[in-house]
Amino acid sequence: MPTTLNQVTVRFAPSPTGLLHVGNARTALLNWLFAKKLGGRFLLRIDDTDAARSTKAFEEAIYRDLAWLGLTHDGTDRQINRLTKYSTAFYQLQASGRIYPCFETEGELERQRSLLAARKLPPVYNRASLEPANKAKWEAEGRKPHWRFKLSRSKVSWTDLVRGAVEIDTATMSDPVLVREDGAFLYTLPSVADDIDMGISHVVRGEDHVTNTAAQIEIFQALGAALPKFAHFPLLVGAGGEALSKRLGSLSLEQLRGDGIEPLAVAAYLAKIGTSDPVEPRQTLGELAQEFDFAKIGRAPAHFVPEELEALNAKTLHAMPYSAVAASVPQGEAFWDAIKPNLNKRGDIAQMARLVSGPVTPVIEDAALAAAAATLLPPEPWDQETWGAWTKAVSAQTGAKGRGLFHPLRLALTGLEHGPELKKLLPLIGRDRSVARLKGETA
Ligand code: GLU
Repeated sequence: MPTTLNQVTVRFAPSPTGLLHVGNARTALLNWLFAKKLGGRFLLRIDDTDAARSTKAFEEAIYRDLAWLGLTHDGTDRQINRLTKYSTAFYQLQASGRIYPCFETEGELERQRSLLAARKLPPVYNRASLEPANKAKWEAEGRKPHWRFKLSRSKVSWTDLVRGAVEIDTATMSDPVLVREDGAFLYTLPSVADDIDMGISHVVRGEDHVTNTAAQIEIFQALGAALPKFAHFPLLVGAGGEALSKRLGSLSLEQLRGDGIEPLAVAAYLAKIGTSDPVEPRQTLGELAQEFDFAKIGRAPAHFVPEELEALNAKTLHAMPYSAVAASVPQGEAFWDAIKPNLNKRGDIAQMARLVSGPVTPVIEDAALAAAAATLLPPEPWDQETWGAWTKAVSAQTGAKGRGLFHPLRLALTGLEHGPELKKLLPLIGRDRSVARLKGETA
């Protein structure tokens, strides 16, 4: 993935260990919008070094879900293809004295952490494996090491594009494990090696990575690489401020797609919540990109409220021009204009189509009025003036007015209490079906 100097290049780096949920979809989206706004590149990196938990099916779902949202990528790779690069980076760090083997078992580490917790101290690894006597003893026992990066135990600072000035003292952190006993790389080093190799200019991710960033900045520096810029945005929470993680299953993109939510509504919602912009429908991702600015992202968590997304979904449909739906609405533009204000979801279109082409089982509330109305229907062609002229004539003949006039006509013509404007619907229903329905026939 070659890149030119100074070009904005970002990456979305999901692990294929589950379905994309609204939280990581937002990470993808914010990266994509930023890249598009600045004419940059958006790379998709599959973080699949965890062989036990990564699956091909989840990887395929990531591609499918991003395509559904419209987030095209300019390059993609899997970390599993790049292991030799990580080994090279590892040996470089080792040669500069920043890597050391550790021999403690998970149980021993856990005991250390609970002792620290009991003394109200932060769970910082005590570097016991750096003691020559410990190392000799544990090696003699035949223990297999895992490998840690030796942090500088000093202050690391950067100017975050969302959080402003950030300073973290790496003395408050454990030296991160880079390689497990079984030789597998954990996330920390491969991510830095890839960010360097792929020319990532901006690392844009959730604020749960802020501490990682301090460690990763030290790794960038130890590898002699220039630092990317960092942006850490607040995470999504539920309506009442609760963590979303408990409900992530029901908030996967796959689920939203299955529920008939428009990808554009999902994108507009995820782009706007937690920012200073209002949550409003947009017609293209390009508009969202033009409006994107890190400065608009607030420091408070963004509230994800499914009902708000549904409302935005409806508004998104109401604002959609026929050209955007023509492929799935063969009934034509007049039909689309008649029904769209009444849609909540695209799936409602089929029910609306039935109002026009039948079968509709009419409800005859006022038989005399319906019979009179049937005889007063003018000959075709009909247009949007027909309804007004016809109902005037029906009113003049029967004396019915207001609800007493319109309600029985709507029930007879559509079988429903509420629905699209009849002025627009009537010409689409046509004379034959209208007559039949007014006579109480299913048509
Ligand atoms: N695979 C990591 C995650 O999903 C990537 C984090 C990052 O953007 O660096 O958390």
